[in-house]
Amino acid sequence: MALTNPYLKGVYDTVLRRNPNEPEFQQAVLEVLESFEPVVAARPELEKNGIIERIVEPERMVMFRVPWVDDQGKVQVNRGFRVQFNSAIGPYKGGLRFHPSVNASVIKFLGFEQCFKNSLTSLPMGGGKGGSDFDPKGKSDAEVMRFCQSFITELSRHIGQFTDVPAGDIGVGGREIGFMYGQYKRLRNEFTGVLTGKGLSYGGSLARTEATGYGLCYYMKEMLAHKGTSFEGKTVVLSGSGNVAIYACQKATELGGKVVTMSDSNGFIYDPNGINLDVVKDIKEVKRGRIKEYAERVPGSSYTEGQRPWSVKCDIALPCATQNELTGEDAKLLIAGGCKFVAEGANMPSTPEAVAAFLENDVFFGPAKAANAGGVATSGLEMSQNSLRLSWTFEEVDQRLQGIMVNIFKTCIEAADKYGHKDNLVMGANIGGFEKIADAMLAQGVV
Ligand code: NDP
Repeated sequence: MALTNPYLKGVYDTVLRRNPNEPEFQQAVLEVLESFEPVVAARPELEKNGIIERIVEPERMVMFRVPWVDDQGKVQVNRGFRVQFNSAIGPYKGGLRFHPSVNASVIKFLGFEQCFKNSLTSLPMGGGKGGSDFDPKGKSDAEVMRFCQSFITELSRHIGQFTDVPAGDIGVGGREIGFMYGQYKRLRNEFTGVLTGKGLSYGGSLARTEATGYGLCYYMKEMLAHKGTSFEGKTVVLSGSGNVAIYACQKATELGGKVVTMSDSNGFIYDPNGINLDVVKDIKEVKRGRIKEYAERVPGSSYTEGQRPWSVKCDIALPCATQNELTGEDAKLLIAGGCKFVAEGANMPSTPEAVAAFLENDVFFGPAKAANAGGVATSGLEMSQNSLRLSWTFEEVDQRLQGIMVNIFKTCIEAADKYGHKDNLVMGANIGGFEKIADAMLAQGVV
């Protein structure tokens, strides 16, 4: 699909001119603008009020030096980012990513997508994202702590419980959030819900750790039900072995599916008997090891170095590792292997060619901003609990999460239908997320 509407084409040309050398951001904007064609045609007030020009331009972006001292006493310098993309419907909200691949383009693509995702949850959260090119892998706890303290010392002047509430993402888990929260509290002398993904002993929410993976499976459950089927007896191919992948594997299995693969950036494991998650958790969460150790420990399983799992035959695919991990060629392999359902646990894991292949070949496809919104939705629930000074039970949070995922699916289906793209969840998620933000921006004047 290419842009045909002159207004949208003009906006996209400006995005290309203003953001050269930012391929991930350009890719995310193009994919979203393509979905807006029928909306812009039906609602001329959007062009008159410059809504699309404003929505592709972050409200603010900060970039900063993060100096820290390693265990050898040597000073290291990383680069920190925070993009505050859109606050029309609530304080900026979105994760922090610590990974060597982080740069302005990656942070802007993630922040842009986050706006629509947060809107879809129906909770009052604007969109933001941040992070650093720091690599926590191979660092000691003390080094990670010194880095986190330096990072948040600078970021603290830009965030706050009513302004911008960061969370975790790749490379930022409970350990990192704890170090950053402690330092923020010390700097501000206040105990507020400024970060989510906190530990349970200091304001975290039950079920936050599980939320993205569980939410992904709740969304897939709705997709399957919409086509008159369920997880029961289905073979599931899953990538990644981090937070999202682990809990997606657990919930998919609980719902009756058989998950046969997981991966990390080195390769993938295949277990025809269904992944034994206790072994994966021990390797990844306890020993912080590599996924290949699974094949050494579980008889009958195998490990393939340097490849992704998309050649394995399945009914359902759940990419849960990172952006652009599933190419057009991979999509063809999945389709040839009989895959009929795909939902994205990671952010933008499928390339545009892969998404096109799914849509053209009758694969029911759930895009990230809808399918993985369970994580940020539960972060929103953590914010609510912090404001109420209350903690809900695991079951209560999980129930709300299920309700939110069912509602997101409904919003996507209805938005796609309204603009003549029945069952196209890409269109539905983009439009469903967009219209609420656009209406809020229209109501708030030129800001
Ligand atoms: P983790 O850091 O816990 O896990 C990331 C996983 O992806 C690891 O298995 C990692 O392997 C793998 N991976 C990372 N980079 C690459 C790469 N270049 N090629 C292949 N594999 C790679 O992160 P999360 O599970 O939290 O996040 C995974 C995805 O889900 C991201 O896209 C994130 O933005 C998205 N997401 C996460 C949410 C959350 O609540 N955590 C919420 C919504 C979306 P290795 O160990 O080798 O690096």
